[in-house]
Amino acid sequence: MNDASIPSLGDIPPETFREMGHRMIDWIAEHLEHPGRVPVMARTAPGAVRAAFPDRPPERPVALDAQWAQFQEAVLPGITHWNHPAFFAFFGITGSYPGILADLLASALNVNAMMWKMSPAATELEQVALDWLRQGLGLSERWFGMIQDTASTASLIAMTAARERIGAGIRERGLAGRADLPRLTAYCSDQTNYSVDKAAIAAGIGLENLRKLPVDEAYRLRPEALEEAIAEDRRAGRLPFFVCATVGTTSTTSIDPLPAIAAICRREKLWLHVDGAYGGMAALCPELRRVLDGIEGADSLVVNPHKWLFTPMDTSAFYTRDPETLRRAFTLQPVYVKSAVTEDTINFTDYSVPLGRRFRGLKLWMVLSTYGLEGLRARIREHIRLGQWLAAQIDAHPDFERLAPVPFSTVCFRHVPRALAGRKDDPSTAQEIDSVNQRLMNRLNDSGKLFMSNTVLGGRFALRLAIGNIRSDERAVREAWGEIAGEAKRQ
Ligand code: PLP
Repeated sequence: MNDASIPSLGDIPPETFREMGHRMIDWIAEHLEHPGRVPVMARTAPGAVRAAFPDRPPERPVALDAQWAQFQEAVLPGITHWNHPAFFAFFGITGSYPGILADLLASALNVNAMMWKMSPAATELEQVALDWLRQGLGLSERWFGMIQDTASTASLIAMTAARERIGAGIRERGLAGRADLPRLTAYCSDQTNYSVDKAAIAAGIGLENLRKLPVDEAYRLRPEALEEAIAEDRRAGRLPFFVCATVGTTSTTSIDPLPAIAAICRREKLWLHVDGAYGGMAALCPELRRVLDGIEGADSLVVNPHKWLFTPMDTSAFYTRDPETLRRAFTLQPVYVKSAVTEDTINFTDYSVPLGRRFRGLKLWMVLSTYGLEGLRARIREHIRLGQWLAAQIDAHPDFERLAPVPFSTVCFRHVPRALAGRKDDPSTAQEIDSVNQRLMNRLNDSGKLFMSNTVLGGRFALRLAIGNIRSDERAVREAWGEIAGEAKRQ
């Protein structure tokens, strides 16, 4: 049948794909060659992007050309540019060229990495990339690695495995209505990322049973506080089962003392999960491997290639030394996948929540290959050098105050106008200083020249500048500091 009156029901013509594909790749290359040309933060009013699109779906095809025009006119103005050299908010992420290309290939192949048999290369390349990263981080061969979408999911599955390990049959019988079960109790510091709170919600532990422990003067979990809380909870008939320590907390990037925490967890038989989503990656540099000292006493670890390893969202590397418990927590084999089960290979779906999985190993492999460990280390070291440079400028400036140690490349600080410095601890002056800094941040962010975020430390508003995007170079950091100090002077 070759009747021209019958519309084609397959995909769009390959020539159209090729032509648009070339245009888009050219645009990406041009856009990323000059990533600082656009304002870093979107200035769109809420609802403006939605309003630019029709309420109703198109009945007739919209030409790719017209879609491209909509992307340029309606989508791009609403983009906050995380690839911008002056993106210093939250933690930096990077759409690197190798990562972008690998994502394109992964979409083209569009395989499902759920089980080995569904596409052997997807599983095995993930294993290769995770094993390379493991070696780079100086972890022993005992660690089993897999990719999760985010650190949040990684912490959720760690908590679920810990729950499985207590042997109370929760997987089968659940938690509800279980008079036989004491309150399962988990521990972390009051600086722990709120993804762990989400894990406690999703794993049925409950926020009330996630104990947030106090930190020391450098924002690190105090092991004595952990020990005391566990003892107190045991006396009260609770069942401690899980601890999360962090290497690189979200506010100040503090590093919890892993060796002491691991010793407590071993003695108390608790699952120790280490959230190294940002800071863990620094261990690639031999001189910084110490940030993971004590890790061999932990049960699981997450580090995010989509943060400080220049791999596009979403790629989170999860490792555990107890894959068998993780598998017991999640494996199911209904009849309709039985024929795909292979005994002598890994079926990653057995170790986590999702069935379908993107071929994410491809981009991690391509990023590791393109830069090599040396190239990755050099970029991480440069970010740390720039962070230390900024900390030194702040320390040397009479109108600025640094608010936390800087172990990596994230600096917390505030502007203290000279006129207020003498009474900065009076409650009303302290509030005024908070407002000064809030206004300073808003003005800087509104300028479109840089984007930084804030945190609260010791009850006070703190500016927070995090360097971690591959395109944030010395010039961008120097210019940002010039803007910050200049704007503060003008206030
Ligand atoms: N852990 C830490 C220390 C973080 O800072 C973050 C986010 O910034 C997360 C976990 C959550 O990461 P994800 O977005 O991959 O879930």
